[in-house]
Amino acid sequence: MWTMDAYRRRVRCCACAGSLRRSKHVNLVSLQRRATWQYPVWRNVLTGEDGEAVAVVCDACLDANREIQEAVEFRGAEVLYHTVIDLERLPPPQNWMLVRSGWRLGIHCLVCGAAKAGFAEGCTACGSAFEGGDLEAAWAAAQSPRPAAAGPDRR
Ligand SMILES: [Zn+2]
Ligand SMILES: [Zn+2]
Repeated sequence: MWTMDAYRRRVRCCACAGSLRRSKHVNLVSLQRRATWQYPVWRNVLTGEDGEAVAVVCDACLDANREIQEAVEFRGAEVLYHTVIDLERLPPPQNWMLVRSGWRLGIHCLVCGAAKAGFAEGCTACGSAFEGGDLEAAWAAAQSPRPAAAGPDRR
């Protein structure tokens, strides 16, 4: 059973490789990389990706935003570590949503919250490029003659 106490005693920090015993929290961080194992993995609610690799990080590394080197796998009672750069990169989470105001179609930026009518490759308010998902295809589908039937129903 992987209690937080078991994590603390048996898992090393995936950034500094130090002990977690003196860390107040056991921090789990999703890595946006594909896990080729069962546990532990993260489910990304934005992309729907189910097997995202996870790292365990001590408080000091989390605060310092230190680069994470390893992902952790629990296989039975065994703890295995995987080098992050060897894992397949997952697509970035979608950071935009189409919005319709009356008859005008626009894009809502999920980074800064700005909504603008008309098509754009990126947010004109915060400068973020729109990524994740297929914006052009979604836009084209939303422009089709029967907009009510186009695209997944997102509320
Ligand atoms: Zn650390
Ligand atoms: Zn923005």
